[in-house]
Amino acid sequence: MVKKEITSPAKLKKELEEAKAELVSRNKKLKLSVKTEAKKKVDKKKVEAKKKVDKKKAVAKKKAEAKRKVDKKKAVAKKKAEAKKKVDKKKAEAKKKVDKKKEEAKKKEEAKKKAEEAKKKEEEAKKKEEEAKRTYEEELEEQLTEDEIKNFAIDKTDMDKLVNRVTEMIASYATNGILQNILWRKLKLSSRDGSRLALKLEKLGNITREKILENGRWTYLLLIKKIPISTISIENAPCLVCPVEGKCSTDGEISPKTCVYIEDWVLTELKTKKRHETN
Ligand code: SF4
Repeated sequence: MVKKEITSPAKLKKELEEAKAELVSRNKKLKLSVKTEAKKKVDKKKVEAKKKVDKKKAVAKKKAEAKRKVDKKKAVAKKKAEAKKKVDKKKAEAKKKVDKKKEEAKKKEEAKKKAEEAKKKEEEAKKKEEEAKRTYEEELEEQLTEDEIKNFAIDKTDMDKLVNRVTEMIASYATNGILQNILWRKLKLSSRDGSRLALKLEKLGNITREKILENGRWTYLLLIKKIPISTISIENAPCLVCPVEGKCSTDGEISPKTCVYIEDWVLTELKTKKRHETN
């Protein structure tokens, strides 16, 4: 420190004031410096605290993001599970429907089977019942004598002609035979007359009758046994009224081999026979 020489009170006063001012200035600077240091420390602490807070925030953010990701995954998994559940539910419902249909079909099938069995039983019972029944023809055979059967005749009918015609018709069916009801229908005969006529034909030995069940009812199949020799077949023969019959021989000039009358007659007879068979 430089020692100054005080020469007057005014100078002393001035020196003191200057020293005081300097002291105040220094003090101010010192205070300012202290304040700045403290502020720096505070700021530093603040920055560090902020850093810590930011770090915590960053960690929390990361955790939140991680949680969000986990939640997202969970949500996706949940959606998938729900979708699967729906699909499973639909499948279960579809299966249920199929099973129900199968069950219904099974029930129907069983019901159908039962109905068929019942029908079969009913038919068998009906058949047995029918088999136990006696036919109208069997009753007739019991009621009528053999002569009554053989002499059966229909009013205003040439019975010989009818017998021959019916026998020829039955013969045309050869070994297959024909059901009597069909034949009676062709001939426009009643069942009563037809049954009697069949018995008559059987007694005459022209046909045989075979008892058969047709559509659940007894009837007879008529089969040819023998074709009777009939004069009907030759009653229109030209030879019977031929004026040159006496001169006619197989090797002569007049001969059936060359006879136009015979030829015409045979053709006519054939046509007639065919017409009868068609009818
Ligand atoms: S075959 Fe002729 S010619 Fe001889 S008898 Fe008969 S119709 Fe007469």
